[in-house]
Amino acid sequence: MDKLAPFDRLDAAAWRDRDLASVWHPCTQMKEHPGTLPLVPIRRGRGAWLEGVDGKRYLDAVSSWWTNLFGHGEPRIAEAIGAQARELEHVIYAGFSHAPGLALAEALLALAPPGLSRVFYADNGSAAIEVALKMSFHSHLNRGDAQRTRFIALGNGYHGETIGALSMGDIPLYRRVYAPLLLEPIFASSPDAYDAAPGETAEACALRRADELAAILEAHAGTVCALVLEPLVQCAGGMRMFHPAYLRRARELCDAHGVHLIADEIAVGFGRTGTMFACEQAAVSPDFLCLSKGLTGGFLPMSAVLTTAHVYEAFLDDSRERAFLHSHSYTGNPLGCAAALATLSIFESDDTLARNRITAARMAELAAPLATHPNVAQVRQTGMILAIELVADRRTRQPFPASDRRGLRAYRHALERGVVLRPLGDILYWMPPYCVGEEELALLADVTTTAMQEACRP
Ligand SMILES: *Cc1c(COP(=O)(O)O)cnc(C)c1O
Repeated sequence: MDKLAPFDRLDAAAWRDRDLASVWHPCTQMKEHPGTLPLVPIRRGRGAWLEGVDGKRYLDAVSSWWTNLFGHGEPRIAEAIGAQARELEHVIYAGFSHAPGLALAEALLALAPPGLSRVFYADNGSAAIEVALKMSFHSHLNRGDAQRTRFIALGNGYHGETIGALSMGDIPLYRRVYAPLLLEPIFASSPDAYDAAPGETAEACALRRADELAAILEAHAGTVCALVLEPLVQCAGGMRMFHPAYLRRARELCDAHGVHLIADEIAVGFGRTGTMFACEQAAVSPDFLCLSKGLTGGFLPMSAVLTTAHVYEAFLDDSRERAFLHSHSYTGNPLGCAAALATLSIFESDDTLARNRITAARMAELAAPLATHPNVAQVRQTGMILAIELVADRRTRQPFPASDRRGLRAYRHALERGVVLRPLGDILYWMPPYCVGEEELALLADVTTTAMQEACRP
């Protein structure tokens, strides 16, 4: 604590200087600090709000990178972590078991789509994707199918930053530089409803893209391990949304070709799309369900990969090499498990999904007037995720030149007004903690309106 005490006396400017002298921040061109981007030192979080060291408050409209579910400082989760820390902070999870790990596995399986019957823990979303890719490949191999070495991923998808997970992503900004190092999946066009032809419904667009997937599976028959996708919303790809019909077709096609379906619900899981898991909206069970972000309510890094008995049983053998030897030092961390258990119990005690339906409807009402703005190509929403796509020309959907950095203008404007709106390029979105209230939503809508004006002025 003594080491932290001097920070109380630093004002925001001194803080920035000191921070920028020693810290390397994620997803950031550090040269833009402090000129283009302000660095915001935060001292506490309560509910939907963050509080700066200078006392200024910020509405966290992006749930701190989509992790936070019920608000910052949620006391029931904080309590659960504290209690668990005093009992058992961590133990090696190979050869050992503990109550929070077991209880969480049982609870996740009870909530998950039918057919999933095993839980493997990891530390973060990217690691969960790595686990699913390796498990899929290895289970085919263990069943004598050594030809299956490829993956299919969707255009505009995002699955994380480690080499394997990055390989499955299709966002040039993150992928291009590292391309020489990456696996090469077969990319299938995204079923993104934004790409629907004039007059085409989202469902028809999804089914058209599914036909393309069918052709790819046909062409690569017998060589594909799995199809990996983000169900319903491609979040990092700009909150692009697609019709559940694609998931149903993809499930049928994967079954027909002996290919696994990996559902990356790292961002969309835990109620973001309106249902607990997005796959539910297509009544589909994946072979692998990857969960992280909201899993601990936004308190601790942790992830889980749920899979089927069929996958699991392929590893049971007398040979150690046929076992899944993947591990992380903090696998099954009891603090993370305790936070996740508290998170799941809040869903139940607060009837979160029902309350979110009301909040989501209110978000739709507040965003409706923005849809007519001459620079708005589309306002779209799936549950608690709402996105506003800004373009140079709404009729042709011609984007603004990327070098204009319109989204950055909106970001800076909103921050000035006390709202963390962190656009993806020129796509503004709302993905607030579920505790967000009427007045906060009204503020969010108001600041979004002026941020849009700021972003779109010549
Ligand atoms: C954030 C994200 C990941 C990666 O999770 P990390 O914990 O950041 O490694 C993977 N997939 C999706 C869909 C995500 O949104």
